[in-house]
Amino acid sequence: MSFRRTHHCGQLRADHIDQKVVVCGWVHRRRDHGGVIFIDLRDRAGLVQAVFNPEYLPPEQFAEAEKLRNEYVIQVSGIVKGRLPGMANPNLATGAIEIYADKLVVLNEAKTPPFAIDARNGVDEALRLKYRYLDLRCPNMQATLALRHRATKLMRDFLDSRGFWEIETPMLTKSTPEGARDFLVPSRVQPGEFYALPQSPQLFKQLLMMGGMDRYFQIARCFRDEDLRADRQPEFTQLDMEMAFVDRDDILDLIEDMVTFVFEGTVGAKIQLPLPRLSYADAMARYGSDKPDTRFGLEIVDVTKAVQDTSFRVFTETAAQGGAIRGINVPGAGESFARREIDELGELASSYGAKGLLWLIVTDDGGRGGITKFFDPQQLATLTCTMGANPGDLLIFVADEPMVCAEVLGRLRLFLGDKLGLIDENAWNLLWVVDWPLFEFDEAEGRFQAAHHPFTAPVMDDLHLLTTEQGKVRAQAYDLVLNGVELGGGSIRIHRREIQEQMFVALGMTPQEAEERFGFFLNAFDYGTPPHGGIAFGLDRWIMLLAKTDSIRDVIAFPKTASAQDLMTGAPSPAMDGQLRELHIELTPEVAKRFQSEA
Ligand code: ASP
Repeated sequence: MSFRRTHHCGQLRADHIDQKVVVCGWVHRRRDHGGVIFIDLRDRAGLVQAVFNPEYLPPEQFAEAEKLRNEYVIQVSGIVKGRLPGMANPNLATGAIEIYADKLVVLNEAKTPPFAIDARNGVDEALRLKYRYLDLRCPNMQATLALRHRATKLMRDFLDSRGFWEIETPMLTKSTPEGARDFLVPSRVQPGEFYALPQSPQLFKQLLMMGGMDRYFQIARCFRDEDLRADRQPEFTQLDMEMAFVDRDDILDLIEDMVTFVFEGTVGAKIQLPLPRLSYADAMARYGSDKPDTRFGLEIVDVTKAVQDTSFRVFTETAAQGGAIRGINVPGAGESFARREIDELGELASSYGAKGLLWLIVTDDGGRGGITKFFDPQQLATLTCTMGANPGDLLIFVADEPMVCAEVLGRLRLFLGDKLGLIDENAWNLLWVVDWPLFEFDEAEGRFQAAHHPFTAPVMDDLHLLTTEQGKVRAQAYDLVLNGVELGGGSIRIHRREIQEQMFVALGMTPQEAEERFGFFLNAFDYGTPPHGGIAFGLDRWIMLLAKTDSIRDVIAFPKTASAQDLMTGAPSPAMDGQLRELHIELTPEVAKRFQSEA
């Protein structure tokens, strides 16, 4: 037999007893027991125990085994034996057997690693990122990347079976607006000009539809130069798709089938179809969020009508000014919460932007505490009925502009769901949010912005409002939400030039500006553009949810820190002088001085 790997370490089972095997891997642990050496050998598939006994091994080979240290890379050949009675390790997949080594080759030695491979959780993340190749050896990193591979493979298989083609789009391109800052790449050949790294393949996937490709997908790298939040990375991966000659429901149906396929093939979850569809307006009204977590109730109820005639001025005035009064019934909390806990809800509400949190406790004979005194018995009965409340329940209210009510109660709802332990961590609650607004008003800029991106089609019934009453126009857009997290979003696109031009006008662009930025795209509309639409999923976030991890860095092999640095390679780093000259770029004096003083 040649000395070549026959099995992965973690694969060996009782079925292999008496077989001669060759395995390779890293020394995970070495133990000396009365002249016999035990090695836990580790590879991607797991651990196996190899026994080096001087009775079977030539002395010089045994001497080699004595020198083994953690993380040495070795190759071992031997016979698989059942462990002696009582010696099996039920915690290890290979725990019923061990390898009686008859040959050892040290393929490489290793320094003592800066952290133990199996004790990674306590280790400072900066250290793990600096030595990412060691961190990647940890079983949970390997399991997560295996899951990522499995999920992407299922997506590819599914999409292939439905006639999608995987097509790459350029990295060096022109700005694709998705609402973030672009990363720019200077051109050496065209001095003073820049490429932008794509924020998404949006324009190209639409151009592929114009190009007759019919169904496209790509596991696409996207770049957005934003200040990073916990679950963001400057470069991230999307599963990006586009289809021609479809309407919204064709896309939603297809995605539902894909999602079912991926969930079943990865975490074994069965997803009930069709998925619920909630309008944006309903999502905001009932859950105070455009990505509602429906794993628990605590729905928001509008009680404006029920309370506007009470003697409480805050209610009457808010209602008169066109505001809203909305509340949440927190079942049982009237009895279980201490006063301090109610006050804490009030503090949270203020920190979320409410002027205050109003409350009362429902009792057998009406109510007590908080704002009870402003209600007569009939009004109280109407209120408790509207909120489906029973004695012992705590009712909390916000009276404000509808958006403020939604935001504050939406966040309190999440807080309470967590505090009361109402969230089923094993649930996979998927739903669509549809009928989004096409625009959102940017207070800082004093004008409307595309809520999604400028290529999203308006609901055709709202088309006449496009340049006059932007605030009222609905979009043919949809988001897929999983357990309160946005998994992906997309839309039916504008496929007629004059509507696309109106859209640019609505966004405050002059025809010249539109021509400069998107002329190539507008021209393409003139040559026969099919109706089309698509969607993109944040792949990293999807994998995070499948893997049940809170950190996006756990699902990316080589991630960046919150300050967009790669601690292993040291990127970003200063350019060499010559490079900048070639690019016709000069640093500002302040920056140049900083580099000089650091040098
Ligand atoms: N390009 C969009 C995004 O990245 C998705 C889409 O509309 O398909 O969010």
